This record gives sequence, C-alpha cells and structure tokens, in this order.
Amino acid sequence: MAATVRADEGAVAPSQDGTVVTWSVTELAEVRERLATEITELNQEIAKAETEIASSDVTDGAGDDQADAGARTYEREREIALTLNSRDLVAQNERAIARIDAGTYGVCESCHKPIGKERLQAFPRATLCVACKQREERR
Ligand SMILES: [Zn+2]
Repeated sequence: MAATVRADEGAVAPSQDGTVVTWSVTELAEVRERLATEITELNQEIAKAETEIASSDVTDGAGDDQADAGARTYEREREIALTLNSRDLVAQNERAIARIDAGTYGVCESCHKPIGKERLQAFPRATLCVACKQREERR
C-alpha cells in the first residue's frame, strides 16, 4: 500500500541541543500506525479480560473453601487491575495520535521543548522529555 507522501509536510520541532527532532510524514505515519495497532490489540485484551471477569461471577460455585475463594478473588482483582492498566494505555495512545494529528507530537507537555526522536521511537506515547519525566518521577 503506497501512499503518496509529501515531504514538505513533516512536523518540525525546533532543535535546541542538536537532538534529532524532525519527523518525516512517513515516520509520523509509522508511529501513528503503531499506536493505532496497539489500541486495537489492547481493546481486544480488555474485551477478553472483561468477559473473564464477568464469567467469574457466574461460575462462583458454593462449597469452595476459603483458600479457593481467596485465590479467585485475587485472580479477579488482578484481571481488573490489568484491564485498568490497558485502558490507561489506550488513552495514552489515543492522546499521542491526537497530538500527531494536531501537529504537536514530539513536544514536551511540560517544558515545550522537543522530546527527542530516539526517545519517542522507543516510547511512542511519551508526552514528557527525559528531564521532565525524571523530575516527575522524583516527586
Ligand atoms: Zn520537558
């Protein structure tokens, strides 16, 4: 599937320290595709986990001992936590896609400096540069 790419439409963020921050349309399209694929996969996982969570209610049989019940509760809570985590990732991916579409992708949400291409290629949903991220984690 060869899409026509106009090279003059890349999102260009100002470089201050020589970090590579220029994205070509093709590169952005690839990142967008990666994020979109991940959203689809995550939504499938969420749907599957929710089915399991729902069915674990129904299959709750009588006569189980407390250890079994405890293990099941633990298992269920783990599924719910995973689902919440997946939902969070979906939201982050959707936000990254919105930023690509808005032309603000690759700019740190905190200090508004370029995040750096290498970091974004490793973590496509990053919204903070390394310095801001570290500051946030220390908090
Ligand atoms: Zn920053």
